[in-house]
Formats: sequence, C-alpha cells, structure tokens
Amino acid sequence: MNKDWNLPNLKMAQKRSIDETLIERSLFEIPEQYINIGQDKTYYLRTYGCQANERDSETIKGIFEKMSFTQCDEMNEADVIIFNTCAIRENAENKVFGEIGNVKVIKQTRPDVVLMVGGCMTQEENVVNRLLKTYHQVDVIFGTHNIHRLPQLLIQAYFNKERVVEVFSKEGEVYENLPVSRNNKSKAWVNIMYGCDKFCTYCIVPYTRGKERSRLKEDILSEVDDLVNQGFKEVTLLGQNVNAYGKDLNLDFDFADLLESVALKDIPRVRFMTSHPWDFTDKLIGVIAKMPNVMPFIHLPLQSGNNEILKIMGRRYTKEDYLTIFDKLRSQVPNIALSTDIIVGFPNESEAQFQETLELIDHCQFDNVYSFIYSAREKTPAASMVDNVSLSEKNDRLQRLNKRIGVHALMHNQAMVGKTVSVLVDGPSKKNSDVYSGYTETNKLVNFKPTTDCIGEIVLVEIISAKTWTLQGKQV
Ligand code: SF4
Repeated sequence: MNKDWNLPNLKMAQKRSIDETLIERSLFEIPEQYINIGQDKTYYLRTYGCQANERDSETIKGIFEKMSFTQCDEMNEADVIIFNTCAIRENAENKVFGEIGNVKVIKQTRPDVVLMVGGCMTQEENVVNRLLKTYHQVDVIFGTHNIHRLPQLLIQAYFNKERVVEVFSKEGEVYENLPVSRNNKSKAWVNIMYGCDKFCTYCIVPYTRGKERSRLKEDILSEVDDLVNQGFKEVTLLGQNVNAYGKDLNLDFDFADLLESVALKDIPRVRFMTSHPWDFTDKLIGVIAKMPNVMPFIHLPLQSGNNEILKIMGRRYTKEDYLTIFDKLRSQVPNIALSTDIIVGFPNESEAQFQETLELIDHCQFDNVYSFIYSAREKTPAASMVDNVSLSEKNDRLQRLNKRIGVHALMHNQAMVGKTVSVLVDGPSKKNSDVYSGYTETNKLVNFKPTTDCIGEIVLVEIISAKTWTLQGKQV
C-alpha cells in the first residue's frame, strides 16, 4: 500500500449533504512542458456501460488529443490503454477483468505500455483491492470524479514508474470547460446533471457517481448553441435521472423548463435520458406534447410490475403511479414510442409477482424493453437480502419475458410498414456497407439503400418491411 494513494471509501460515497453544488470551471490543465507528451504516440480507449460513460469517454478522448495523442483501434499497438468501466452488473465487471488480463500479455513484449482503469468499477473498494492485489499490469486507477486529472496521473505514471491510485468517493462537483472529442458529428450527448440520490436498493450508481448535481442552464444552453452552430442535428440531454434536474440549484427552473429552452433552439431533434417515474410531471408531459422537435420516444424504467417488489427495490412508486404517467404520455403525445427496463429474479420475487410484471408488459406493449436478471452489487442494500430465486428460475423468467417483448416490438414495427418516416442517417450499416442505417423520431433502427450522400442528414424513408428490432426501407 502507498500512502499517496487515494482509495475509494464506501462510507464517504454514501454521504449526502445539503451543501450547494460547486461548479468548477478551471480545474483542467496540462502543464506546458507536457502538451506534446503524446506526440507520435497512440491511445486505445474502451468504453463499457451507459451513455454517461460514453460521454465521459468523449472527455477522455478530448484530453488525450490535447496532449497530442492519436486514437488507435488496436489495443496491441497502443502506447496508452484506457478502460472506462461499468459496475452495473457482475458480468459487465467480469468482462473488464478478462480484458485487463489480456493486457498482461501485451506488456510482456511492450513493458512501457501504460494501462489506465477508470469509470464506475474503480469507485468500488472491493474492485480496487482486487486490482492492487492481483493485476499488477494496471498502472493508473482513477474514478468518475477526477477525469480532469488524467494528464497529471499519466505524467506521474510515466515519470515516477510507480502505480498511481486516485479515486475520490464524494458527493462531487460539476466540472465545466473540459475538452471533448465527440464520437458522432450529427448527434451529441449533452450532460445536464450527474449522480443520483434515489438509492434504489439494487443499484451501485449513487455510490459510484455521487449526489444529484445539476449543471447551470446557461452552460447547457451555450453548449447546445455551439452544437447547433456546428451543424448537429440531434442532442440527447443526459443524466442518471434527468427529471430531477435543477432540484439542487433551488431555482424556479425545472427539467420541463430546460427541455423547452433547448427545444426552442434551432435543433431538429431533442431527446433525453434517463427518466425516473418519481419526478415525471404533467408539466413535462405538456412540453413533450407541445414541442415538435422533442422526439416522441421516452425511456421510462419500470423494473417490476409488482408493488411489493417495487417497495423492496426502493423505487418509491407503485405500478398504478407508473401506469398513470404511461397512459398520459400515450394519450397526450401522438405516435409516442415507449421503452423501459425490467429486472427479473429480484430477491423473494415469487412466480405470482412475476406474473404481474408479465401482465403489465402485456398492458403497456412497450416498443422495447431492456430486460435483466437481478445481479447483486456488493454493499448495496439488496445484496444482503436472501436471494432465494434459483438461477434456472431467473433464466426461465427472462426467456418468458423476452418472448412477450419481442412480440410487442414486432407488432409496433409491422405497424410502420407503408409509412414514410424521417431518419437521421448514421452511416453504412454494420452488416452491409451499401446499406445505410439510422434512427426514426421514435428511435427505431432503419436500414435502407441511400439514393443521395446523406450521412448525418435527416432524410425521408418509406418503410417496406419490418423485423423485430429493425425496419427496412427505401429513400424517397
Ligand atoms: S434511479 Fe435508481 S436505478 Fe437509476 S441510477 Fe438512481 S439509484 Fe440507480
């Protein structure tokens, strides 16, 4: 153990105070003499997990490019390897440990390669202890609160030839003026807030990402202005729980106000994620219905269709509360598409309780559902609950649920056949470079043969056929 190491601390991570959120504007810097430390060098960045991590990785890219590094797609060839990790489920973590193991082989022939591991996993005490004890190939361990410190941590590792561990377990600040190198030139993630205070009993996020803290609207709106001036067609307002935007700022300006302010900008498409039913107001539904460039697609996690399970999950709404919001969205926003998250096999979930989830899925007929088997996260309250649902039972429930989900998704897609829809074109589809793909306003994936050079453009496509998860069309 090194006394200079800053190790994660769960107790600190649980702390929540009413202290005002600190906005840091000038914390990021690269010492003059190290601006070209990356000259003729490359970095490899692997991102795991959610959109928040995707956006953090765009900051990491921005920082490395400011240090003159070039991004490369081959881990074996990179001078610096960075893993931006996810801690949401055990299998996500196991994947990362596997990849870290692979770097050991690389470093046998190229010992100067620097391996940096960050993201949500390294905010966990047990993970950092395991990395320090077993994975000596890891040179730098950083967290979710100090991405702006990457230049200093890299320089330390390079010149001191010793392991660097700097992970802060805290409520957190808001960092402005950090570099960004975006992955997409027509769609952009725009952070509006960080962290979460909901403390759902199964979730690790409140411990890894800190308290709910909002960016100032001026900073968000000026970022959107920049994106509009650069020709972006779509922005997604991002947060673990966007509906709680502004609550920590004690201003008479909530998420509905922010969404309307962004939608009044000259941007064709506005999206937001992730929502929590708890803060989903009628005012917000009104803005979604009123503003034509707020896309008619809402991701609203439900997690379970049974009230007892929702209670022990700590979700603090009932299925009736959820259905009230769901039905209002369906009735007030024409053509709206809705998706959700469902966890099966939560501790003590009985077959009868699972049946209620299936009934709710049949009632709602979601356009899409992200379904997961419950995965105990160490030190979360649910992890100490007796998990009496067998793995085979969990798998069986997941299969039964996924069957229903597929039926509804196909039904919604088949209803699109013959319609002409607007699609924001991402580029050649993964499977066939002659075919382009992009998303509709309702967030459905469309593959079509382009008749014009339309990457990054919004074009009209007539839907010819439908599969469960994709639509096929022709440009009109
Ligand atoms: S709302 Fe619940 S599930 Fe979502 S990030 Fe917060 S604690 Fe996790």
